[in-house]
Amino acid sequence: MSVEKRKSSSARYRASLARNITENGFVVMPCSYCTSQGLTCRMLPQSSRCDNCVRRGRSCAGLNLSVAQRGCRIFL
Ligand SMILES: [Zn+2]
Ligand SMILES: [Zn+2]
Repeated sequence: MSVEKRKSSSARYRASLARNITENGFVVMPCSYCTSQGLTCRMLPQSSRCDNCVRRGRSCAGLNLSVAQRGCRIFL
């Protein structure tokens, strides 16, 4: 039992963090993952990943990031 509890601690942390972003974050331009999955993309100002990417434990490659790198601000 104790092993099982230890094993799921990181997953539980990710789930609670993702829930926090979902509840308190704001909707942003969907990252590539959310776009491919048809999900709503939410982020917190201090977060570098969206709720869905945090929940999945994957890196968040935002489409808006590539736009920002090119100096375009068409979403503002
Ligand atoms: Zn996303
Ligand atoms: Zn993402």
